[in-house]
Amino acid sequence: MNSDALRDVIEDVKHLLDGDWSRREIEKREAQQQQPASPVSREEALEETARTVSSCRRCGLAETRTMAVPGYGVLDPLVMVIGEAPGSEEDRQGLPFVGAAGQYLDKWLAAIGLERGGNVFIGNIIKCRPPQNRDPFPQEQQACLPFLKDQISIVRPKVLLCVGRISAQILLAKTDGIGRLRGSVYEFQGVPLVPTYHPSGVLRNPEYRRPVWEDLKQVRSLLDE
Ligand code: SF4
Repeated sequence: MNSDALRDVIEDVKHLLDGDWSRREIEKREAQQQQPASPVSREEALEETARTVSSCRRCGLAETRTMAVPGYGVLDPLVMVIGEAPGSEEDRQGLPFVGAAGQYLDKWLAAIGLERGGNVFIGNIIKCRPPQNRDPFPQEQQACLPFLKDQISIVRPKVLLCVGRISAQILLAKTDGIGRLRGSVYEFQGVPLVPTYHPSGVLRNPEYRRPVWEDLKQVRSLLDE
C-alpha cells in the first residue's frame, strides 16, 4: 500500500472512531440534500430561454438571420399563437408577427376578446428566418422545437392557436395540408390545439376568412368551457 492510500485508510478509521464528527457530517449532508433547489421564477425561466435563443447556433439558420425571434407575451396566457418562422420584418426587429400579417392577427384576437401583450403569447416554432422564407428543413425543425416546448411548459397557455400549414404539420406530426388539418381540436403537451390558416395566407385568399372565423370561435368556446 502506498503512502497516499495508507493516509486515506487512516482518515477513514479516524472518522469512524470519531462518532460525533461522522454524525454531524452526515446530518449536515442530509440537510443540504433536503434543501429545495434555489427556485427559478417562471419569468426568469422565460427570459433565460429567450437569451439562449438569441445566441443559439444549433442550426444553420444562425448564419443567415439578422435577429432571432424568441417570442413575446405574458405568462398564463389564454392563448399561445404559434406560427412557422420569422419573416423579413420579424428578422429585422426580433419580434414575432409584425407587419401586415401581425396587424391582421391582432384583429382576429380582438374578435374573440384577446389582446397581444394582455392575455396572449405569440411565437414561432422556428426562431430564425429561413432564407427567402423557404420551408424549414427537418434538422432545423428538430433543433428548434425544444425551445417552443420549453416555452409552452413555462407560460402554460390554456389553448394553442397554430397558424399555417408548416406549424400545424410539425406540431401534429402530419403531412396533410392546413385545409384538411383545420376544423378539429388536437392536443400538444396536454394543451388543446386549434390549427387554422396563417394570417398572411388569408390576406392573399379572402375565401379563407370564413373557416378562420369558425376556428376562432372554436378557440373562444374552449376558453369559455
Ligand atoms: S432556428 Fe432555432 S435552433 Fe436554429 S439557430 Fe435559430 S434558435 Fe437556434
